[in-house]
Amino acid sequence: MELRNCKKCGRLHYGTGRICNECMKKEEEVFDRVKAYLKEHPDSSLVKVSEETGVTVPEIERFLREGRLEVSTGMGDYLKCMKCGSPIKTGKYCHDCEKKVVNDVKTAYKTIVASTPVGSETKKGGPRMHTNFGERK
Ligand SMILES: [Zn+2]
Ligand SMILES: [Zn+2]
Repeated sequence: MELRNCKKCGRLHYGTGRICNECMKKEEEVFDRVKAYLKEHPDSSLVKVSEETGVTVPEIERFLREGRLEVSTGMGDYLKCMKCGSPIKTGKYCHDCEKKVVNDVKTAYKTIVASTPVGSETKKGGPRMHTNFGERK
């Protein structure tokens, strides 16, 4: 457990989340409200949802990006893939890019592993130029 600042109310709290338990509870309520509203009014635009539920647009967008909420019909192509820009229903990337992102992470990891020196040949030890090319028998 580590002590951290709640991203929402700024209070110090012990926990793994970015916000404290109290804010988490509030956020659940907010989420439920948005979800319930969308269930009944799937053709509402994002602004309308925000107005009716009192939940700010960035907050609703975060729910969408976290994959907890899906874009309703009224929101149209609101949510876009962060990589290629094609419309998506939920999350950060479209299916194609999601695959690519996973691969990118794997490749990046491999590159890091490959670039770390295996045998440390940079031994510090005086100016001894010990080359072997002059040895004849
Ligand atoms: Zn808080
Ligand atoms: Zn994409």
